[in-house]
Amino acid sequence: MGDYFKHNPDTQGMFGEYGGSFIPPDLQEEMNRITDAYYSISKSHQFISELRNIRKHFQGRPTPVYFAKTLSDECGGRIYLKREDLNHTGAHKLNHCMGEALLAKYMGKKKLIAETGAGQHGVALATAAAYFGLECEIHMGEVDIAKEHPNVVRMEILGAKVVPVTHGLKTLKEAVDSAFEAYLKDPITAIYCIGSVVGPHPFPMMVRDFQRVVGIEARDQFYEMTGELPDNLVACVGGGSNAMGLFSGFIDDKDVSIYGVEPLGKSFKPGEHAATMTYGTPGMIHGFKCYTLQDEKGEPAPVYSIASGLDYPGVGPEHSMLKDLGRVNYVTADDEECLDAFFQLSKKEGIIPALESAHAVAFAMKLAKEKPRQSILVNLSGRGDKDIDFVVENYGIR
Ligand SMILES: *Cc1c(COP(=O)(O)O)cnc(C)c1O
Repeated sequence: MGDYFKHNPDTQGMFGEYGGSFIPPDLQEEMNRITDAYYSISKSHQFISELRNIRKHFQGRPTPVYFAKTLSDECGGRIYLKREDLNHTGAHKLNHCMGEALLAKYMGKKKLIAETGAGQHGVALATAAAYFGLECEIHMGEVDIAKEHPNVVRMEILGAKVVPVTHGLKTLKEAVDSAFEAYLKDPITAIYCIGSVVGPHPFPMMVRDFQRVVGIEARDQFYEMTGELPDNLVACVGGGSNAMGLFSGFIDDKDVSIYGVEPLGKSFKPGEHAATMTYGTPGMIHGFKCYTLQDEKGEPAPVYSIASGLDYPGVGPEHSMLKDLGRVNYVTADDEECLDAFFQLSKKEGIIPALESAHAVAFAMKLAKEKPRQSILVNLSGRGDKDIDFVVENYGIR
């Protein structure tokens, strides 16, 4: 295992031809500081044992691996779920937020700044800030604030300041710009905490490393349950953090087939999906290189998915590299398949999945039918409580 992680990313933060850092010089200086701190602090015995303690006693790790027997009987193969939905706050995001916030504390930072789209990253970060007694400032588009009211209230209850972003389309892209601006005004006391394996170096590496615990646990747990490794891994890909978490535990296990599932939304037409690697081309977004969905002018294109955590017109640089290497197969599930999986898993197993995670479940069900003798380990990245009102109001109960 050691070798892959030693060379990816390289010392410039490149994953093959992707990643890197293409940002203004003053911001670059701060990124260099974070990179240095990450290498010196996060590998220390004290940091590792503190993080381990937090994971066990605050987050509730290890999360179980569960054999979904009824769903498997229905589909054919053997489907297993890594239950990241049982993490505190209900998703995998807390894995990297606690890591980023702990690093902030060691660096002497007083404040965490981030953007949020649907509010999931904002809530996870506000939770981490409350735990460590740090200030927290979350930038969020006005349109999203209106749409995601419960998450706004959660962040405020947790003590975070939610900053409404009122320019442009008033959604995620503007929120990123606004959060970066705020951070640049105060780079000494504040630190920027990104929400996935995206952004300039060192974030894609740091977030992956904090998520690796998912894959390391899952590999041990699966082996203990079955005496072998899974034939297939499946995870949904927005920016790609939950997927990299699971995949990184198995990257050198050449017999394990790996699938990343992108949202196909309503159709393959531009603007109706967010399948960045399936339909996109290499380009630049938010200071790094990766597969992107762009319009004719080279601007990030409008994207759509039923799962708001998946609608990003870029993707992690490591996924971009793993696609080109052919190590991971990137496939799609559309809104209808996602909804079907959402209800099937709820009714058959008593687990309501996040709409994001339901994309992975949908593809796993398809794969199980094609390969009935094989095992499939799915990363169930989050629980679906946040989605129930939206689903029932728009699609009814199926
Ligand atoms: C945010 C989110 C995702 C998408 O983010 P990745 O970085 O691609 O993992 C997936 N599932 C859930 C439950 C989320 O909250």
